[in-house]
Amino acid sequence: MNPTSFQVGPGPLNPHLIEYIEDAYPKNILSLYHRSLPFKHFLEDHFSLFKEKLLIPQDYQIILCSSATECWNIIPRSFANQHLVHVYNGGLGKKWFQKTQSAHPHPISQYTFPSEEEFSPKDIDLPCKLLCLVQNETANGTQLRPQSILQIRKHFPDSLIALDASSSLGGILLPWEQGDIWFASVQKCLGLPAGLALMIVSPRAIERALQINERSQYNSFLNLLSHFQKYETPYTPNILLIYLLGRILSHRPPMEIIHQQTLERYHEWIRFFIQHKWTCMVQNPRTHSYTVLSISAQAKWIKSLHQYSEKMGYLLSQGYGVHQNNSLRIANFPEIQEKHIIGLKKELANFSENNPLH
Ligand SMILES: *Cc1c(COP(=O)(O)O)cnc(C)c1O
Repeated sequence: MNPTSFQVGPGPLNPHLIEYIEDAYPKNILSLYHRSLPFKHFLEDHFSLFKEKLLIPQDYQIILCSSATECWNIIPRSFANQHLVHVYNGGLGKKWFQKTQSAHPHPISQYTFPSEEEFSPKDIDLPCKLLCLVQNETANGTQLRPQSILQIRKHFPDSLIALDASSSLGGILLPWEQGDIWFASVQKCLGLPAGLALMIVSPRAIERALQINERSQYNSFLNLLSHFQKYETPYTPNILLIYLLGRILSHRPPMEIIHQQTLERYHEWIRFFIQHKWTCMVQNPRTHSYTVLSISAQAKWIKSLHQYSEKMGYLLSQGYGVHQNNSLRIANFPEIQEKHIIGLKKELANFSENNPLH
């Protein structure tokens, strides 16, 4: 039997995926010519479905990319030519900063904040045209709450705000209007295999990109925009994943219900950790991610918990970067079935009884 995934990336697959793939095959869409009218209609229908199901504002533009990493590359290049500030508290935010730093011709500023603290924009006194933020930091299981994002918006009313929502988009409600450029790949909260990412862009970000006018690469934002605005693509797109994302989203309950479920499951996980005297990697619940749970302990204990879970048929994610050996991460993505959570908790409780921490 295949192990059940609770990995944070790639995450657990939608349980009906195989049906959807079987449906796609005979429909003749998989080899649809991407400059044809039927493809345009296909993409237009899918974009309106994505907007409806994910509650994306009508005036925001959807762009398709291949990964969040590709978005990391496009955004600093296409939306800023000076005063770019990366703000982060964990490993993925740091990686994004480093990639921008090595690729971008202009000096980049970084601002880091402790993972135990809510980010306050008041501490940044740098000129700032574009802020690159991580809404949900998969590396340490923290997130920027809507109130923080709103504060950032108020503090930097003229700056563009880009938010990496790779491990939260589709799992929680996002304050779209408080950000200008959102992005996520589909292998986390959207229940698909990797190979597609959504970039969701506000009218003011488009305006700014037009002023900067960066068109040096095939994937420069303006080159992508000119195609996707007309429901065309500048490259042969991943039609299968677009189709599957449509199928998954059209079967989902409204986002408010998903958000509520994510939240309830998060609280149940926290109660479980407390009951077993396990320690969250980040203690302050006000910074906790709802979709990525991270616990920390001595490396030896973490390793045996990881191995035990795997033996019992459950895949968890090891820690990220500097936390690789002394933390474990558990996905709380919407595609996870209740029966699997119950099964995993039973095994974890067993382990805990035989390997008490305190
Ligand atoms: C997974 C992840 C990425 C990288 O996604 P890819 O699709 O592999 O490029 C970037 N940022 C965050 C926060 C992630 O969780």
